[in-house]
Amino acid sequence: MFPLPFTGHLNPMIELAGIFHHLGFSVTILHTSFNSPDPSRHPRFTFRTIHHNKEGEEDQDPLSQAEVSAMDLFAFIRVLKQSYKEPFRQSLAAEVSEGETVCCLVSDAIWGRNMEVAAEQVGIQRLVLRTTSAASVCAFAAFPLLREKGYLPIQDSRLDDPVIELPPLKVKDLPVIVTKDPEELYRIMKDMVEGAKSSSGVIWNTFEDLERLQLMDLSRNFQVPFFPIGPFHKHSEDLPSTKNNKEDNAITDWLDKQDPKSVVYASFGSIAAIEEKEFLEIAWGLRNSEQPFLWVVRPGLVRGVEWLESLPCDFMENIGHKGKIVKWANQLEVLAHPSVGAFWTHCGWNSTLESICEGVPTICTPFQTDQRVNARYIVDVWRVGIMLERSKMDKSEIEQVVKSAMIDKKDGMRERCMALKEKADICLVGEVKADLRPSKWAEQYIKFFY
Ligand code: UDP
Repeated sequence: MFPLPFTGHLNPMIELAGIFHHLGFSVTILHTSFNSPDPSRHPRFTFRTIHHNKEGEEDQDPLSQAEVSAMDLFAFIRVLKQSYKEPFRQSLAAEVSEGETVCCLVSDAIWGRNMEVAAEQVGIQRLVLRTTSAASVCAFAAFPLLREKGYLPIQDSRLDDPVIELPPLKVKDLPVIVTKDPEELYRIMKDMVEGAKSSSGVIWNTFEDLERLQLMDLSRNFQVPFFPIGPFHKHSEDLPSTKNNKEDNAITDWLDKQDPKSVVYASFGSIAAIEEKEFLEIAWGLRNSEQPFLWVVRPGLVRGVEWLESLPCDFMENIGHKGKIVKWANQLEVLAHPSVGAFWTHCGWNSTLESICEGVPTICTPFQTDQRVNARYIVDVWRVGIMLERSKMDKSEIEQVVKSAMIDKKDGMRERCMALKEKADICLVGEVKADLRPSKWAEQYIKFFY
């Protein structure tokens, strides 16, 4: 397996590795030297680091943390793809020539057609893992059409126009990113789509009851086998561990003291960054809502600031035991805690699935790319969340949205959350626990490989 080295991609690949292992496969994870996973947390897998610099070269490179944070995300992905293309091919060849039979490569879809060449050269099949929603891939795959029809690049005057070809998306929901070179995003997504189309099949971290139409659409377009076997974290025994166990215990102790469904959990994933002004609006909005809150402020979340320095000195005193700010949390545990009543999220796909699986309603503040599509589906299709657009995120709007998510129970959102959770549970209980297999798709894997 060859994951892309970002938390939102690495976590589902590790979970998928757990599913494969459970089926009796042995798993080797080839991973980049940048942001590598901790092998000691997953002793059942073999980990091999791929170095992108040549032997003898200093481990000083274009992927140092400092340079990465200064780069556009997609410029960085381009550098990653270039830097690892040849070292990956060599590592895969070494792996295949080394005794054990390698039956298949599973690579993150973003690696694109680089992987096709590598797998062909060593003569093995290649599956791709797509770690985002099928709905967002429908939009990525439609980029050429959207450009032809003038939806892209996005014009400010058209933000609220519907995208007739991709209902219920509006122009502002299209999965783009503010970047110096928009062509970079189009190129990477085109390569992702072509790499998936030329693969032996696509594994999706989603489930049919959630995205049936989108999966059907894509399946017609891609013409390769599809395996929608998510949500992985519910099927797998190998969950990405938290980064700080001591802090996790403190979080659980704090949550234990709160009333059922009273806490707003706010976290914007592992990559999103905000300005200092936005940070302060969020802080005051949460405080003024007078709801207990648990807020993950990752070091690096606020541009130009280490951590909480820009909060007024008396802010923490002011909130007393009503609020808790942490650097990282074990999100799966937090969302499963009975005290959590709403999740204020950037709508990364893992966070979206994790909240659906726990029946927790969401406040949606998408930042970029697929998060915008996920947010629209959460709010308008599954109707299990409220939109709080980043451009409208001032303290009084935040206060109002948080209050309405926590207090206002009239529109049946909580019931819909529970109904959706049940659908996720059914796809698990019926097919996983009853017969001790990850899902009916497991049969297909086995047919596929043998
Ligand atoms: N996560 C976590 N603790 C945090 C924040 C995030 O465990 O404090 C995990 C979360 O459970 C999810 C992943 O990090 O599995 C974030 O992935 P997602 O796709 O939601 O967003 P991304 O980080 O890719 O933007």
